[in-house]
Amino acid sequence: MERLSWDQYFMAQSHLLASRSTCTRLIVGATIVRDKRIIAGGYNGSIAGGAHCTDEGCYMIDGHCARTIHAEMNAILQCAKFGERTEGAEIYVTHYPCVQCCKAIIQAGIKSVYFAKDYKNHPYAKELFEAAHVTVKKVPFDNFIELKVAKKEEI
Ligand SMILES: [Zn+2]
Ligand SMILES: [Zn+2]
Repeated sequence: MERLSWDQYFMAQSHLLASRSTCTRLIVGATIVRDKRIIAGGYNGSIAGGAHCTDEGCYMIDGHCARTIHAEMNAILQCAKFGERTEGAEIYVTHYPCVQCCKAIIQAGIKSVYFAKDYKNHPYAKELFEAAHVTVKKVPFDNFIELKVAKKEEI
């Protein structure tokens, strides 16, 4: 078996996390890494102990599911909860971050964003990342885990 690169390894972790998503609107995973060490992970889901979209349906407000905390936010908040420094860290996400997550990533001091799939790629998010000198790089991910997650997305 071919040895995974670090990028593929962390991206695999994000795809694995994505398979835990409870919001059916988008299956997303995020992994925060510092010095080649995973410090946090998150997926699209409800607050701890809250109702899941998969059980109760999405709670839609202005075209967005209000029940869900995005994977990137969940990963950053996990760092806040457990006292992990995010300054200078990197984040691996299955999809290009939305504007809200983009701002949270910048404000948390994360310096690099690696994403596997384009997702709306809002020009304002792009503009903010550039202004904050955050490196954004597409890391396509294609191995057996990707196939499994893709199958789940089709359902
Ligand atoms: Zn939802
Ligand atoms: Zn987001």
